[in-house]
Amino acid sequence: MNAPRVSFVSLGCPKALVDSERILTRLRAEGYEIARKHDGADLVVVNTCGFLDSARDESLAAIGEAMAENGKVIVTGCMGATPELIREKHPNVLAITGPQAYESVMAAVHEAAPPAHEPFVDLIPPQGVKLTPRHYAYLKISEGCNNRCSFCIIPALRGDLASRPVGDVLREAERLVAAGVKELLVISQDTSAYGVDLKYAPSLWRDREVRTRFLDLSRELGELGAWVRMHYVYPYPHVDEVIPLMAEHRILPYLDIPFQHASPRVLKNMRRPAHQERTLERIGRWRETCPDLALRSTFIVGFPGETEEDFEMLLDWLDEAKIERAGCFKYEPVGGAKANDLGLEPVPEEVKEARWNRFMARQQKISTGLLKKKVGKRLPVIIDEANGTAAKGRTKYDAPEIDGSVHVRSRRPLRVGDIVTVKIDEADAYDLYGQAV
Ligand code: SF4
Repeated sequence: MNAPRVSFVSLGCPKALVDSERILTRLRAEGYEIARKHDGADLVVVNTCGFLDSARDESLAAIGEAMAENGKVIVTGCMGATPELIREKHPNVLAITGPQAYESVMAAVHEAAPPAHEPFVDLIPPQGVKLTPRHYAYLKISEGCNNRCSFCIIPALRGDLASRPVGDVLREAERLVAAGVKELLVISQDTSAYGVDLKYAPSLWRDREVRTRFLDLSRELGELGAWVRMHYVYPYPHVDEVIPLMAEHRILPYLDIPFQHASPRVLKNMRRPAHQERTLERIGRWRETCPDLALRSTFIVGFPGETEEDFEMLLDWLDEAKIERAGCFKYEPVGGAKANDLGLEPVPEEVKEARWNRFMARQQKISTGLLKKKVGKRLPVIIDEANGTAAKGRTKYDAPEIDGSVHVRSRRPLRVGDIVTVKIDEADAYDLYGQAV
């Protein structure tokens, strides 16, 4: 009997990507083949994103395409939390399941295309199926979130924080490194809150007990011999404890902190975690401990009620904080988000646009200045793309997909996943250029 073939579409953020990887791993473990095209596959699974209206449109379009080209479609992911929106457009999809509903996705797959009865367990590589290139991998440490930011519907979609016991996370990380992964990207909705729900319970790792806590996780991951990068951290006081690990080169001197704004009034309306922390002072102290710490963040401009004064406070904050990388979004009123009901004055689209442009110009100037200081230095670079003696990679200060790159020339051919020393000879607003030495 031929193995049934499943075509898979993965949309959305790194967290959704991890869900996709888990589903694909299960499918492969049960003997399903992954098809390259919808046409000719036994069915299609679409892992959707429902975070912004634009993401929903993209998800609906992907479902439409799968319906047209195949006709047997199972929908999962964040949009699965609002099945009526999907049914309205595509009434004939086979099944709709929500985020992390692996069991329900698999049940729907079994019904539509029963697995082949063959011994298949060996099909699965021990590290699972990765959608990211083999040299880096996302490590998801928890699901859901205990915060209730007013612009966000993730807690409604994914529920409260549920941390994975640290022993499980470390075993997964160990397997990934053994399979050749050189860089682990730690993700969650709120990495600094890791373990709160488990009351930091100890769990068994190798021959000892380790607590399910941000600091302990960071320390142990730092022992595995891979680059370890922390995403979605909030500036709580206990994050201070992790900075020395960065100064000692155990984990990367990199923190991805979604600050979102700098005006206390806007942050309060956003109901942001740690909004009362004095972030500039904290950043200053972190840099004293770890001078080459790189900070990356995202911001929202045009949040309801944001005044010109609030916005200028944000620009001043950027000037003071001088963070290495910053992304900026114009506020979008997501359906179901609290922010829509706070009675705050919406910011007109043209004002949002103008603020976005001013933000980007300001940050570009800061980034250009910071990158210029790297010219002349020799920096380790991990290679993401290689084409003979021309390659593209990243320093420790840049995460894949969201930050900048290093364009590398080399005398000998480089391979993806190599970590090489590069002498930087040029910089622009976002990227570096140099020669492998
Ligand atoms: S921290 Fe706020 S923005 Fe992030 S997932 Fe939780 S509620 Fe949403």
